[in-house]
Amino acid sequence: MTQAQLQMECKQCGCPADINNDSTKDEFDINCGRCGSHHSQKYEHTLVSIGPMKVEKELDGYGVSRVTMLDGISQNTHYTDPLTEDQINIYQSMFNSPHILNDQSYVVIYTPDGHKTLFGNPPKDFFLSYQEYIKKYHSEVIDS
Ligand SMILES: [Zn+2]
Repeated sequence: MTQAQLQMECKQCGCPADINNDSTKDEFDINCGRCGSHHSQKYEHTLVSIGPMKVEKELDGYGVSRVTMLDGISQNTHYTDPLTEDQINIYQSMFNSPHILNDQSYVVIYTPDGHKTLFGNPPKDFFLSYQEYIKKYHSEVIDS
């Protein structure tokens, strides 16, 4: 297996970010489920290049959301642009409606000041930094 799913400290918010790594191809894909930032590197064939060309993509995160419907189906969204007023109004009416599970849904925005919960309830440990997360995870391993 050359594919590995790991976690690393998010460059933007310091929380655990998911990294998909293919070391044989020098490619990776990092997504933070706390702030929504994205960083990837892959090799692609383009019309102008003879061989595959390295394509690096880095997008700032502006927040994340999870909306869980009554049937349990949920949708996760990462924002690489600030939420518009229209989007916030749509979420407001969703979270005021009986059609979603409020306790399993959330909208968290990310600004230079940090995370801010706009609606709903982020899961326990959501705002732990990567270091805090590792410390907690390790102490649980030692305790058990
Ligand atoms: Zn992050």
